[in-house]
Amino acid sequence: MLEKIDHIGIAVNSVNEVKSLFKKIFNLEPLFEEEVSDQKVRVVGFKCGDSNLEFLEPLNAESPIARYLEKRGEGLHHVAVGVKDIDEALNRLKSTNVRLIDENPRMGAEGKKIAFVHPKSVFGILLELSQE
Ligand code: ZN
Repeated sequence: MLEKIDHIGIAVNSVNEVKSLFKKIFNLEPLFEEEVSDQKVRVVGFKCGDSNLEFLEPLNAESPIARYLEKRGEGLHHVAVGVKDIDEALNRLKSTNVRLIDENPRMGAEGKKIAFVHPKSVFGILLELSQE
């Protein structure tokens, strides 16, 4: 059911700072950069083998990432695993007692279908399911 680590999501104050740092230390350009209006974030993704590193900057104070930064500062926000069929995966989780943040998939970066599982149900990690 789990195909790979799709990406690691990291909360930051400024994706521009990440871009200049990655240019300087890895000579790396972003794979993509976009705004995800649903989450009110600007996302910059870097390719890292078969996975991506995604840096998330809040677009405004209502963004969940703004609240996260306020509480905990910059750092690891979530781990996303790639699944073939997100509806099937969600149905399977619903049939157990796993607490879901998203009962239904929504649109993430790169046009992927995503859904979050509550950290309380998975050992303190905010887990994202992601389908191409
Ligand atoms: Zn993500």
